[in-house]
Amino acid sequence: MSNTYIQNDAKKLWDSVLSELELTLSGGTYNSWLTKTNAKALTQEGLLIACQSTIVKSWVTGKLKGLIQDTVDRKNGKHIEIKYIVEKFEPITHKIPEIAEAPLLQTVQEQNTQMHTNQNTGLSKKYTLENFLIGKNNQLAYAVATAATDNPGKSYNPVFIYSGVGLGKTHLIQAIGNKILENKPSLKVLYTTGEAFTNELIELVQTGKARGKYTSNKFREKYRSVDVLLIDDVQFIIGKETTQEELFHTINTLTMEEKQIVLTSDRPPQEFTKLPARITSRFASGMTVDIQTPDMEMRSAILRRKRDLNKDTVSNEVIDFIAENMPTNVRELEGAYIQLVAKAKSIPITNITIETAKNILSDVMRIDFKKPVNMNHILKNVCTYYSLKSTDIKGKRRTKDLVIPRQVAMYLMYEITKTPFMTIGDFLGGRDHTTILHGVRKVGEQIQQEQEIKQQIESIKNLIYTSA
Ligand code: ADP
Ligand code: MG
Repeated sequence: MSNTYIQNDAKKLWDSVLSELELTLSGGTYNSWLTKTNAKALTQEGLLIACQSTIVKSWVTGKLKGLIQDTVDRKNGKHIEIKYIVEKFEPITHKIPEIAEAPLLQTVQEQNTQMHTNQNTGLSKKYTLENFLIGKNNQLAYAVATAATDNPGKSYNPVFIYSGVGLGKTHLIQAIGNKILENKPSLKVLYTTGEAFTNELIELVQTGKARGKYTSNKFREKYRSVDVLLIDDVQFIIGKETTQEELFHTINTLTMEEKQIVLTSDRPPQEFTKLPARITSRFASGMTVDIQTPDMEMRSAILRRKRDLNKDTVSNEVIDFIAENMPTNVRELEGAYIQLVAKAKSIPITNITIETAKNILSDVMRIDFKKPVNMNHILKNVCTYYSLKSTDIKGKRRTKDLVIPRQVAMYLMYEITKTPFMTIGDFLGGRDHTTILHGVRKVGEQIQQEQEIKQQIESIKNLIYTSA
């Protein structure tokens, strides 16, 4: 067996292990440690893994050990020893940070469009200002972002963007970097995360200590020589004193030289209570802006665009249903949509209705969609659909244009709320329970036989589930 052969097998196994761990671990953990490993050999004795540094080794043999071993054994088909060594090498794969946080089920199409991160800038081309949708919730953040890209370092500095998870911080901060580079390719742009910044510094301090000295010149050179510094999820540094100080001085130096700084965080600077006031006020000294949760209109727009991009056949009604009922976080919203489409394809279902969406989503996302729907709500929507007044339905007139809507109301009330016939009868203007039974049966049969009535019922259900 030649050495390259041994290495190829090892690499194949390790790659498949990494691609699974990438989905199970947080983006930060994966990027900080696992991308800094390399498979060397797979032999009778075991799997040999090189770690870029001692700190990487201490992580993969510490906290992550069990998980890695299990995954290796499973992928390998039987138990195998793993041996870790420390060896310097250039990282081979450089994955984009968002993959691990992205929804577990991605369409192949989506995976293919995810471009790799540029190693020098840390930027991924998939995040642009052009594909950032603007709504009421983020228009201010967007405006600040464009001001910063038009005039780096000279409009707002630092720019501090905060929001809850999955609302577009990473997208926006990366898009700022990409736009600045597009306008001025000669500028030095650097994107990093609070976590990566911290880890890099820790590693440096540790190796420095090992050599009996702490030299941070290279680190400073790297971060203080850029034109644009983008630090995502800066809240990670809270409580890490060396990092806080280093970042504080980095920001001071850069702002003095009118170099653009953008920071994102999951909370506003004032809530960084464990940070010294001089640091938080430094963060907030430029422009602080938040991204709020998208409203229904925005959520629907996000999903419609996703559908159009992927050329999925999903109706607006179903899109609105998801937008209405799913979490307000963009990442989870998109995740729900992607899972729905993937599951529907695997079943396979060609026509996704609200009912199927409800079933699939409550299945895959363990969400209960059964928001209480009462008879009043059903009546209201039946009336909306047929352009009638509730007194028409409850009244005594028996013209054809009233009889069918009335029976449809009976049917839906029984089917959705399982209310006893007698109670439905009382509610619908004091009708006998046998009248209700007759109506429910009649519509039930018609649905089987007539496409048109089936369609009508489906549309009314859509209304019921999507209207407030
Ligand atoms: P955060 O960093 O705030 O947790 P991300 O930037 O990772 O959120 O956004 C999560 C997902 O939602 C990403 O795929 C991102 O592209 C998408 N997204 C968020 N906001 C928008 C928006 N306004 N327009 C388009 N896509 C968005
Ligand atoms: Mg983010």
